Amino acid sequence: DATATDRAIAREEAHAAHNYHPLPIVVESGDGAWVTAVDGRRYLDCLAAYSAVNFGHSNPVLLDAARAQLGRITLTSRAFHNDQLGPFVEALAALTGKDMVLPMNTGAEAVESGIKVARAWGYRVKGVADGRANIVVADGNFHGRTISIVSFSDDASARDGFGPFTPGFRSVSYGDAAALEAAIDENTVAVLLEPIQGEAGIIVPPASYLPAVRDICTAHNVLMIADEIQSGLGRTGTTFACDRVGVVPDLYLLGKALGGGIVPVSAVVGNADILGVLRPGEHGSTFGGNPLAAAVGSAVVAMLATGEYQRLADARGALLAARLEALLGHGVLAVRTAGLWAGIDIDPALAAGREVCERLMERGVLAKDTHGSTIRLAPPLVVSEADLDWAVDQLAAVLEEL
Ligand code: PLP
Repeated sequence: DATATDRAIAREEAHAAHNYHPLPIVVESGDGAWVTAVDGRRYLDCLAAYSAVNFGHSNPVLLDAARAQLGRITLTSRAFHNDQLGPFVEALAALTGKDMVLPMNTGAEAVESGIKVARAWGYRVKGVADGRANIVVADGNFHGRTISIVSFSDDASARDGFGPFTPGFRSVSYGDAAALEAAIDENTVAVLLEPIQGEAGIIVPPASYLPAVRDICTAHNVLMIADEIQSGLGRTGTTFACDRVGVVPDLYLLGKALGGGIVPVSAVVGNADILGVLRPGEHGSTFGGNPLAAAVGSAVVAMLATGEYQRLADARGALLAARLEALLGHGVLAVRTAGLWAGIDIDPALAAGREVCERLMERGVLAKDTHGSTIRLAPPLVVSEADLDWAVDQLAAVLEEL
């Protein structure tokens, strides 16, 4: 007899497109850092929906904000004003120190919107000849899945079979400020970077890199766009990963945790001299800025404004880093951490990342491999010290078995 898990998986596989290869667990509920599967087993969630669940599953404050708004109104479109958008953009502007917010839904939409804003700014403010704008990006980037975004990816599985691609991007080695400066010409409107590359395996650039990029962008009148969709909103122990090195980009791209794990909420945030280039009718989204998203987003921003979650990420992250570093030489080749975010390179001679994740799952820990033999750990920031310790114990045990 098929189990409840097998039946649920078969049903999904029969009709859902096969663009993912999930671990064989079927989640039915979640609370804090833990989820429960249909077979009743509990698992510690060390992925947190790629950092969209930074504040934990079923966070009571966020659920209350959503419930209160559900009973009022959820969607108006921006053909009309709604009473939730104003407070949300005001609070997000204050959190970022910027003065204007463009609300969208998914991360990829925020990236696409940032690209449009940068091009329009290039033509209308910088004076680049029409159709000539270019944007400098970094090798190993991950910014989403749309055609324009995969146009500047160097990951074959993201690109192959999906051309023709959008022109106007040039990619340089991540972490190399001189290469970045050399790629800039008079038609460059922006540099688009993840301050820490997430999907690439939590690649933390040298501490001098982002400050150098900031200076180069300023010197060449080029916008610095920080994709903080995965790195931002508390994950690295600061509100933004850029804060770790005292850098303020021209545009922040935000998403994932901005919707509290409840609704998709993303945004491009910057000052009016840049975002103000958009004129009515030039850009939009049916759902962007909807009252439910704005109510949840306001609650998220209020939680971040206290600094509590950044402190949690910092404290738990120190524990995680110390524990993981002790695994070096025990099946682990390298560990990179930033706050409560870790990339762990498993010795590929021992096992692929997928196999390690499957074995972790059997031991009650959910994690995700990236790029072959790297495992990413990004539990909700509310994870307890004891639970985090236990998760690393499970990883150590898996490494022992290999
Ligand atoms: N940018 C970064 C840095 C990301 O990590 C992601 C998703 O993983 C995205 C953009 C795309 O976000 P979404 O999947 O919501 O479109």
